[in-house]
Amino acid sequence: MLGRQGAGKGTQCTRLSRHFVVPHISTGDMLRAAVKEGTEFGRKAQEYMSAGELLPDDVIIGVVEERLVKDDTRNRGYILDGFPRTLSQAQSLAEITAGQPLDLVVDLDVPTEVVLVRLASRRVCVDCGANYSVQVPPKHGWTCDHCGGDVIQRADDTEDAIKRRLAIYEAETAPLIQWYEERGLLMVVDGDGDTDAVTARLIRAIDSARR
Ligand code: ADP
Repeated sequence: MLGRQGAGKGTQCTRLSRHFVVPHISTGDMLRAAVKEGTEFGRKAQEYMSAGELLPDDVIIGVVEERLVKDDTRNRGYILDGFPRTLSQAQSLAEITAGQPLDLVVDLDVPTEVVLVRLASRRVCVDCGANYSVQVPPKHGWTCDHCGGDVIQRADDTEDAIKRRLAIYEAETAPLIQWYEERGLLMVVDGDGDTDAVTARLIRAIDSARR
């Protein structure tokens, strides 16, 4: 799943993974879990993440490669969220998945003006990653409706880090849209509007591609 920061990839991929009963592999979630565990790797990752920078390609490729050899992905397939983000990551992914190539690449398209507003008001659960916003907060204080975890503003949702991440998206990740289009894998889905309507659009698009 490609798309700008704040396009709703995390929310939509979680829903799609339940609908299609396949694992949701989010590099951002995997890195945040490592940060929370306080491992040496987590500490390094946090430096990049809070600055809004990408981790070095070889590091993140290693993380994804390790995850994709697990049985659940081989048997059921998977949804990949947050990877690839650079041409070199896309090329490595093609090599890693040569035996079982990607079926489809979705660009969840939301204009920059809209994601800027969403990111500024986004709040997330530190435990399960569920997404909320200032407009749609949890039911009871800032406690997650799903798991009771604390709901906070992400450290990289500051104005400076948001600008940096969106600039990197345009420079490094947006070219992948054309790259996948040239390979006949791309489907663009409008991610603007009501969350349920976007989910329905995605399911329709994926079903039609599978047929
Ligand atoms: P966002 O898409 O809003 O940046 P994510 O949760 O997907 O949020 O990722 C958070 C951070 O994790 C990124 O800013 C980056 O530092 C790191 N990261 C995630 N995926 C990758 C990747 N494929 N390559 C390099 N760094 C990554």
